[in-house]
Amino acid sequence: MEAEASNGNGNGNGNGCSNDHDIIRWFDTISTNVAMVQRETLRQILELNRGVEYLKKWFGDKDLDIREMDACEMESLYTSLVPLVSHEDLEPFIQRIADGDTSPILTQHPITTLSLSSGTTEGRQKFIPFTRHSSKTTLQIFRLAAAYRSRVYPTRSKGRILEFIYSSKRFKTRGGLMAGTATTHYFASEEFRIKQEKTKLFTCSPHEVISNGDYKQTTYCHLLLGLFFHKEVECITSTFAYSIVQAFSSFEEQWEDICKDIKEGNVSSKITWPKMRKAVLDIIEPNPILASRIEAICEGLQGSDWFGLVPKLWPNAKYVYSIMTGSMQHYSKKLRHYCGSLPLVSAEYGSTESWIGVNLDPSLEPEKVTFAVMPTFSYFEFIPLYRQDQYSGSGSVDFIEDDPVPLSQVKVGQEYEIVLPTFTGLYRYRLGDVVEVSGFHNETPKLKFICRRKLLLVVNIDKNTEKDLQLVVEKGSQLLSKHRAELVDFTSHAKLTHQPGHYVIYWEIKGKVEERVLCECCREMDASFVDPGYVVSRRTNSIGPLELCIVERGTFKKILDYFIGNGAALSQFKTPRCTNDRTLLKILDLYTVKRFRSTAYG
Ligand code: AMP
Repeated sequence: MEAEASNGNGNGNGNGCSNDHDIIRWFDTISTNVAMVQRETLRQILELNRGVEYLKKWFGDKDLDIREMDACEMESLYTSLVPLVSHEDLEPFIQRIADGDTSPILTQHPITTLSLSSGTTEGRQKFIPFTRHSSKTTLQIFRLAAAYRSRVYPTRSKGRILEFIYSSKRFKTRGGLMAGTATTHYFASEEFRIKQEKTKLFTCSPHEVISNGDYKQTTYCHLLLGLFFHKEVECITSTFAYSIVQAFSSFEEQWEDICKDIKEGNVSSKITWPKMRKAVLDIIEPNPILASRIEAICEGLQGSDWFGLVPKLWPNAKYVYSIMTGSMQHYSKKLRHYCGSLPLVSAEYGSTESWIGVNLDPSLEPEKVTFAVMPTFSYFEFIPLYRQDQYSGSGSVDFIEDDPVPLSQVKVGQEYEIVLPTFTGLYRYRLGDVVEVSGFHNETPKLKFICRRKLLLVVNIDKNTEKDLQLVVEKGSQLLSKHRAELVDFTSHAKLTHQPGHYVIYWEIKGKVEERVLCECCREMDASFVDPGYVVSRRTNSIGPLELCIVERGTFKKILDYFIGNGAALSQFKTPRCTNDRTLLKILDLYTVKRFRSTAYG
């Protein structure tokens, strides 16, 4: 591990680390003297990409000898000369790379692969340069997290993981570069294989299943193989919690077909891709005893609305592991329902651009999880954010910002936006996430994910983020559970076409609920927005009453299909919590079956 720690750029492939103890010791070392480790990481990034066009633009033509430079001088030169940027600022450079310009624009080594962000948070997909280094850091953080998990929830060696993972279709850009989601590149990489060997847990599905590109067929095969190997399954995972919930909800509809396949050692005719059919058929064998056992369990589960499905079907599973924070928090309720008393472990914090932090406390409830920053993955800067005073500022400004501080100077309780460079050619890049420092592991901060920075709902002086909306929806939907119904998914829109503008919240619900209850949910949500700008605007009617639209069952599946059709992958899908996308609004309005207007504020 020494080699990995010292080169910091993740060039170690994990082979240098013999066991969990070594990787945990390595992390303790790098998280102890973070100021030095951070400068060393910055030095490596700048040295690796010395003389590239983008850096020359800010450093001038002088060929800076980064290796010999004093560390503090290098750090202050970087932060004073290179500007803070967002993806938009770098787009012209990335576009040239996508179009086939192989000159050293952002990196010294030509970029051959581009990642596509999910596009479900920002409304459009972004190209991010991807290199082998990206897969290597994925392997490092996964192994570190697995080492911490196995201390609390030990698993049997050579067991299996039922992983609900999905590749997107990969395609070539105009310049011939391979493009696809970051998870797609990782699943196809050597590091994905190494991770299985090192953690001694093997995925149930072969590559042909993961890479199929049709998420419905892939989900079916994941479930079929997961059940076929049910005794060996030690844990159930996905990148984001949404994928597990969608998999089990499709299981509720398809379990009979799956049982038939297990009984006959066959694959349903709905699996049409020959390579995937063959790969699954090569694995499964007829097992009528198992099929009848699963059938009996499912018949019983139907009566309890599938409560505790996971421990009943996978009795040796130790935990369910996935990202359950941020916009995924909504799905943890349903996951709990499926998992009964089986522990839910919240997975790491990262993005297409870079991994950021690791969950060192796997036994914590998902709501309480924090992420210890990986100080060798990037040179992190933090922009302090302060909430605006009651009525100040224009509607489009969310927080007041202070100057960025380095990782070694962050303070507990303060909110920040993360800024980072990457080994793949982004410099002082604003990630757009708001985090709060909740403590430290040695000297590295532990971050609580708060929300995407971008404001969601704005009509005039009101300011509401994803987090504000989530809290409001949670409150409003509490009434549903009293009536044995549940909120499947939700999104929102600030409607400005008629004066006064107002918020529209779309709900898909499971179960029958009386209109008077939905009316009350609508009122409760309107009254629960605490943003002073919203409250004042509602009182003066410069924002109209909140509208709750109930959409038909299956509407949010249509939204998923719309994104997948545009190149997103299920592994990175996040339902947009607010939308102005015309097609999406058309789908939502077409399938709205009931509308309610709030009576809060008279
Ligand atoms: P993408 O690059 O499209 O896969 O999306 C990355 C974004 O997902 C991040 O910038 C975060 O907003 C969100 N995200 C990733 N990991 C987590 C996590 N553990 N908790 C909450 N949000 C996360």
